[in-house]
Amino acid sequence: MNASELDKQAALRQLPGVDRLLATNEAAALAADYGHTLLVAALRAVLAERRAAILAGQAVPPAGDDLMAAAAAWLAGYLVPTLQGVINATGVIVHTNLGRAPLSAAAQAAIQQAAAGYSSLEYDLPAGARGSRSVHAAQLLCRLTGAEAALAVNNNAAAVLLMLTALCRGQEVIISRGQLVEIGGGFRVPDVMAQSGARLVEVGTTNRTHLRDYAQAINERTGAILVAHHSNFRIVGFTSEPSLAELAELAHQHDVPLLYDQGSGALLDTAAYGLAGEPTVPAGIAAGADVVAFSGDKLLGGPQAGLLCGREALLARIRQHPLARAVRADKLCLAGLSATLAHYLRAEAPATVPVWQMIARPGADIGATAQDWAEQLQGAGIPAGVQPGESAVGGGSLPGSTLPTTLLAIESVAVDALATRLRVGEPPVVARVAGDRLLVDPRTVLPGQEQLLLDALIAAITAG
Ligand SMILES: *Cc1c(COP(=O)(O)O)cnc(C)c1O
Repeated sequence: MNASELDKQAALRQLPGVDRLLATNEAAALAADYGHTLLVAALRAVLAERRAAILAGQAVPPAGDDLMAAAAAWLAGYLVPTLQGVINATGVIVHTNLGRAPLSAAAQAAIQQAAAGYSSLEYDLPAGARGSRSVHAAQLLCRLTGAEAALAVNNNAAAVLLMLTALCRGQEVIISRGQLVEIGGGFRVPDVMAQSGARLVEVGTTNRTHLRDYAQAINERTGAILVAHHSNFRIVGFTSEPSLAELAELAHQHDVPLLYDQGSGALLDTAAYGLAGEPTVPAGIAAGADVVAFSGDKLLGGPQAGLLCGREALLARIRQHPLARAVRADKLCLAGLSATLAHYLRAEAPATVPVWQMIARPGADIGATAQDWAEQLQGAGIPAGVQPGESAVGGGSLPGSTLPTTLLAIESVAVDALATRLRVGEPPVVARVAGDRLLVDPRTVLPGQEQLLLDALIAAITAG
């Protein structure tokens, strides 16, 4: 053993054992805060780190108080939730990576109430007997969409899988080649189809599929025609697809259902807000789709859910399938969903559902906010300006259709480092970077987050 090896061995021997550290006053204080078991884990982790540092030849401070300080830091860091609240300054309204739709005050309150106590989740109060979870939100969904029956499950991927499994297992499902889409996060229509046990029958071409292509594919093995809204991309140019109404007529002539994965859950017309027209759920039902599947947390603006609306005879088969139990919606979801749907029934959704508030927010209001922020930053000695830009609806909805906005723009020679400091700050801020500019879109910054955002910007910029 050479001299440095001997030094290392000596340093290792000087490290106290867990028991000795546990006997200190500092340990007693930490155990009171975090419990004995987690404290032991912290001390083991800190000692292991210290041993590794010594063996790697790093100069380490003498053991003692600093070990307890390191343990305290480990404990504090360990219990920080990994799911953190974030300020979304990207201008992408339904941002899947940032949790999609923020909920209305009423939806938040309903979730809080359902969380805090017992509820009539599966209990028929007048009868004093077991009730059904599937009644919740169903009536509201039927009234809003014009469907006979409805069911809420965990998310739309589950809704589509359940629909295909319950209705088409072992049968053929006809779909246009232009709709064999990947939604993101691993949701690919052909894979979901395979998982359901239905056999995919592709018709048409990527850009053009005709009604006769569907008609020629129908036979005695056909279980359904499926239309998947290609929500996250656009096919432009020489394209054609039969309408839902034409497909419904064809399907019904042959006594097979038309299933429609609508995706976004739009109940209102986006075209009224200067966006492209996203197909709505009620329009799908009115066109004759027999079951429509969509998300609860995209343009519907509610909690994560998958919703199935359509004919009672088909929904009854879906509800009774064992998979329905495996993908059922939880009580918090049902509470938040019902409260969100109530906004639409009261015709107040554009004023109360945050996703629609953001879509409907007047350009002049956003411009004034961006200007005000720029002036506040200038007041703090930070060169900031405003520039025109675009906000996106996101969530795989309305590709290529944006809303005009005004961006707060901050030039920086090290803009990527600035964006990183903002993301790891408290609260984390996710902004856009374009060239040498950090861009902040007021559209998706919630009321009540403004001062936090400005403080975070000033802190991150002055730290650079
Ligand atoms: C978003 C989307 C899905 C997946 O929905 P999740 O709620 O993410 O499970 C499926 N189909 C379409 C058309 C979609 O837009």
